[in-house]
Amino acid sequence: MAELVFHTGPMDCGKSTLALQFDHTQSTHGRQGCVFTCFDRSGVARITSRIGIERDAIQVDADLDFWRFVIAELIAGRRIDYLVCDEAQFYTSEQIEQLARIVDELQIDVYTFGILADFKTRLFPGSQRLVELADRVETLPLGPLCWCGAKGTHNARTVGGLMVTEGSQVVVGDTGAGEVRYEVLCRAHHRRRMTASRAKATLGSDPLPFG
Ligand SMILES: [Zn+2]
Repeated sequence: MAELVFHTGPMDCGKSTLALQFDHTQSTHGRQGCVFTCFDRSGVARITSRIGIERDAIQVDADLDFWRFVIAELIAGRRIDYLVCDEAQFYTSEQIEQLARIVDELQIDVYTFGILADFKTRLFPGSQRLVELADRVETLPLGPLCWCGAKGTHNARTVGGLMVTEGSQVVVGDTGAGEVRYEVLCRAHHRRRMTASRAKATLGSDPLPFG
């Protein structure tokens, strides 16, 4: 049976690396797949990972219909055994439903990778639909740590060094109010808006990584 799998975690949990590894492992076993991404950090339709490996990918725009795309490829004589879908948090609910249909009706495995929740701790639309529909949800094991040493689970956004809890869901770069950065915290420190730099200022010394 084919399956729809959602590999997820906070930012910086190595999901793009795992997506590329999945594609590599599948292809070395003679399986043929398509690789998709959306708003990759490189700004083009490639999956790039922080450890330096990368691969061309098909760009997922809001109007991409996965079902029609795959059917067209199959009609053209292409074999498709699996799909690797990175940055799946940015896909629409409809696109996730198309992926589920591809699994059920075409028996094509779909491996999706994405961040679970935004900086307000709310699920991204694509991630929510994946949690609802996936056969399996796998949490990536090698996630980042909060500055306190606890497991990093929640994404914080800082603007000009201060943690914010308002703003649009997707922002990168400079907003005018200051540079936008992201930092992964444990839930307790996310609730208290205690980023590493604020902890350092408050505690008067460098926070101990495992203190
Ligand atoms: Zn913490």
